[in-house]
Amino acid sequence: MANSERLTVQDESVVTMEYRVTLDNGEVVEASDEDGPMQFIQGRGHVYPAIEAAIGGLAPGDEKNLLLPPEEAFGAYDPDATETIPLDLFPDDMELVEGDEVELYDEEAEETIEAVIVELQDEYAMVDLNHPLAGETLHIWVKIVDVRAATAEELEHDHVHGEHDHDEHDHDEHDHER
Ligand SMILES: [Zn+2]
Repeated sequence: MANSERLTVQDESVVTMEYRVTLDNGEVVEASDEDGPMQFIQGRGHVYPAIEAAIGGLAPGDEKNLLLPPEEAFGAYDPDATETIPLDLFPDDMELVEGDEVELYDEEAEETIEAVIVELQDEYAMVDLNHPLAGETLHIWVKIVDVRAATAEELEHDHVHGEHDHDEHDHDEHDHER
């Protein structure tokens, strides 16, 4: 695949990227110093569209800073997105503490949602259903570490294959015939 190697980020490039996501108050939400650089296929929506747009054409060593407004990140903060839930609807063994995050099962939507307990009363808990980062502007720094063309197999699986054994990936939904 050496002949199809590309030096700048384009659609279907496998990008290795250092990153740091910071809030207005300087709090670091996540960063590659802790988790290691991220790897993804450019142009597949694996990262925020704003990041894909910002890194198009960059080469290894290039850095970029961008601001992601709440609308492009975790949404605006909705002050009405609180709910009062009777305590007996929580599992008996669940410890309820103000400020803690809990996972609630929404039976109508058939999905698990994360909520923060904002107030505890004798018989009710008031929970905030906003994403913990709702309303936050994300300050994102990225630095391109490596760029290469994705292999046909990676494009087919829609994820990056590392240097490790293929079996280490979670591939329940794929076939792996060669
Ligand atoms: Zn795969």
